[in-house]
Amino acid sequence: MGKLQNKVAVITGGNSGIGLTSAQTFINEGAKVVIFGRNQQSLDEAVETLGPNAYSVQGDVSKLEDLERLKKETEDKFGNVDILFVNAGLGVFAPLDQIDEAAYDKQFDINVKGAFFTVQKFQSIMNENSSVILTASAVHEKGVPTGSLYFATKAAVRSLSRTLAAELAPQKIRVNTLSPGIVRTQFADKTNLSNEDFEGFIEMVASQAPLQRAGTTQEIANGALFLASDESAYMTAADLLIDGGWMSI
Ligand code: NAD
Repeated sequence: MGKLQNKVAVITGGNSGIGLTSAQTFINEGAKVVIFGRNQQSLDEAVETLGPNAYSVQGDVSKLEDLERLKKETEDKFGNVDILFVNAGLGVFAPLDQIDEAAYDKQFDINVKGAFFTVQKFQSIMNENSSVILTASAVHEKGVPTGSLYFATKAAVRSLSRTLAAELAPQKIRVNTLSPGIVRTQFADKTNLSNEDFEGFIEMVASQAPLQRAGTTQEIANGALFLASDESAYMTAADLLIDGGWMSI
């Protein structure tokens, strides 16, 4: 029997990168998975790859009406939810003096407001012993020039997981963050970083981390599976850091 047999999972940003590999991993372990993202074509392609236990809803995490529709369609199709993987996010990188209000709002609306209201919307349809996983980042503890907005959003996400873990514990819902180091995904396509800059960042992290390489989406999805399953039943308010040792030495 799979580790997530008969569980229902929702993954925001499930049509790409870490979210998509996690969707496949959860399905392989017996879950039914709803993926949520903005791009209908990539959602359709993802569902085709994932097979009959995948279902998609199109929308934007920064729009509350889209999150409400995600909740409603999930409930109509599968009933209550066991795993909420709040993973959608992107990065806006620039020096302090080049950041305008629109960039600030975009970064915080997607990474923080989106994460906060995703959890709020789903609270009432989460089963007992369910798991909320918020994708933070190893950088929530770090400072690197041009990263002020993105890094601050991930610190906010980490903070949210602590308070929400305390608030949702009486409902028997666990809340943890998953913090990847650096992983090659479509992340650079959705930020204002060029692929060259992203590669440069990967090289910098790889050179500083003891394991001397980027992680893979599967290595991060394995962490998501652990946090989603009952194997992590005694973990809440914790941060699972999967970063090749980057933050710890
Ligand atoms: P990705 O670009 O491949 O995936 C991001 C997903 O989020 C995509 O499916 C995208 O459609 C979705 N998304 C973005 N904005 C959205 C919005 N407004 N509404 C709905 N969906 C939206 O990149 P990824 O690396 O797989 O990123 C997944 C998460 O991991 C993000 O939260 C990212 O910040 C975090 N992360 C990534 C890395 C890395 O090195 N790749 C490291 C640490 C943390």
